[in-house]
Amino acid sequence: MRPYILAETNWKNIQKTTFDLAILPWGATEAHNYHLPYGTDVIEADRIAAAAAEIAWNKGAKIIVLPTIPFGVNTGQADIKLDVNIYPSTQMAILSDIIEMLNRQNIKKLLILNSHGGNDFKTLIRELGLKYPQMFLSTCNWYQALDKKDFFDEMGDHADEMETSLLLYLAPELVLPMAEAGIGKEKKHKIKEFNEGWAWSERKWSQITADTGVGNPKLASAEKGEKYFIAVTEKVARLFVEIAGCDINDLYA
Ligand SMILES: [Zn+2]
Repeated sequence: MRPYILAETNWKNIQKTTFDLAILPWGATEAHNYHLPYGTDVIEADRIAAAAAEIAWNKGAKIIVLPTIPFGVNTGQADIKLDVNIYPSTQMAILSDIIEMLNRQNIKKLLILNSHGGNDFKTLIRELGLKYPQMFLSTCNWYQALDKKDFFDEMGDHADEMETSLLLYLAPELVLPMAEAGIGKEKKHKIKEFNEGWAWSERKWSQITADTGVGNPKLASAEKGEKYFIAVTEKVARLFVEIAGCDINDLYA
């Protein structure tokens, strides 16, 4: 029983512990090329949150990891079978209820640990931050915490070498042999400004990739996954420790 994982701990422990920071991991349930499980983003969120929380807890950070929300914004994948979409307005309702509870119970800090590119919590946090001025609300995307070029040969952003390596390390029994995987070839937008990062339009997923992957997974390995997992959890753990220990009325230097 890990005392920093809410789903595992109990009222006997919870009632006597003061928590400074709640962590809300948020995933998605969606196709990941042919070879990775639909729960890939949830598995990553669960495991990175737990491993980072263990490091932070052992450094004295009073944190509690809430259960991972398994559904994300998948509006661009409506025609991909059993990709489960929830709308940003649904995320707003879920977040609002959780923040109301934390605020009432005097747990004044929240970090959303996001595991899915279609989720975007910034605008939701802006709105809820105004409604709950005593709360410190924050979000991070673990997959952007490190430069992937330091760990992987082929870049991508969905079921790519990074995600495949992570799953080969974390849950190899759920990964099909690499011969089954597609190459994750992405079609780029014909309007080049949309490929430059400053103009944005939602990608219609089934039109940009045949196998649902973006990024070639073929050079993935469990060894690469382990190295990346250790580095990313250490970095995420530092953020947990910093937020748990900070004075939310004195944040700027
Ligand atoms: Zn993913």
